[in-house]
Amino acid sequence: MPDYQAILNTIYSEAIQASDKGIVASYIPELAHIDINNFGIHLRTSEGKNFGVGDYNKLFSIQSISKVLALSKAMELVGEAVWDRVDVEPSGNPFNFLTLLEVENGIPRNPLINSGAIVISDILVSKLKNPKDDFLNYIRDLVNDNSVNYNMDVAQSEKATGFKNYAAANLLKSFKNLNNPVEEVLDFYFHQCSIEMTCSQLSNAFYLFANNGCCLRNKLHINDRQVKRINAIMLTCGFYDEAGEFAFEVGLPGKSGVGGGIVALLPDKFVITTWSPGLNVKGNSKLGMLALEQFTTKTKLSIF
Ligand code: GLU
Repeated sequence: MPDYQAILNTIYSEAIQASDKGIVASYIPELAHIDINNFGIHLRTSEGKNFGVGDYNKLFSIQSISKVLALSKAMELVGEAVWDRVDVEPSGNPFNFLTLLEVENGIPRNPLINSGAIVISDILVSKLKNPKDDFLNYIRDLVNDNSVNYNMDVAQSEKATGFKNYAAANLLKSFKNLNNPVEEVLDFYFHQCSIEMTCSQLSNAFYLFANNGCCLRNKLHINDRQVKRINAIMLTCGFYDEAGEFAFEVGLPGKSGVGGGIVALLPDKFVITTWSPGLNVKGNSKLGMLALEQFTTKTKLSIF
């Protein structure tokens, strides 16, 4: 086994010296005051070994990273029917871009852009008895930690300012690709995005995608084929309009969020999570991208 702790220490101390740490997302007011100097990395191997450096035990807003977890729950509940309502192609556009949705008759390009994730929220609102409670319990199972929670201030902040998400949901509704009321679906979506986790909790949450669909509590949530599909979607669509760049530099399936988190994995090997809230112009964590590029280069562990 490589000396993971030494490798993490090296890439951490190299990345933290970057003169340009990016810019903290401010379009969600509650995220704007996060200290840009936070930086943590955590690695969980498939054998259950954990390695961490920096702020890997501090909570942050997982934002769009939650879209992968919502997708996996929807696939567990309705299987292939998900693909009647959302496509699997990269959008090549920002996460909240609306033009394509209109041109493509209300079928979002993929489940990891906002409009696609809102369709997935609609499926969960339809299928779960108590959507917000049940989804949180699902996440707690994955993480193997009942302390994981929504951040109500972040959810409220998005509710008050998420005008583009209201526009997307209304467009979806006009194309009959939203079954529940717009307000109800978005309330669920904003809560889902507001979930807070640490790097180590996120590595645990994504363990099932590196472990054939089985979570840390030993429950089988999704089958091998579904895991393959979710990992493929992360690789092609997980980084806004920079998915090609992430595959090119890092070479792992993964997902980023505007809170500055990135989680990436190599099936049967490891899950790695980084958090640094400064974003590049495409909305991906600047230091996180740098650190992950160094990680797969130094360890030679990528899917390529
Ligand atoms: N909740 C954010 C939004 O809907 C998620 C953005 C992101 O992390 O990509 O705008």
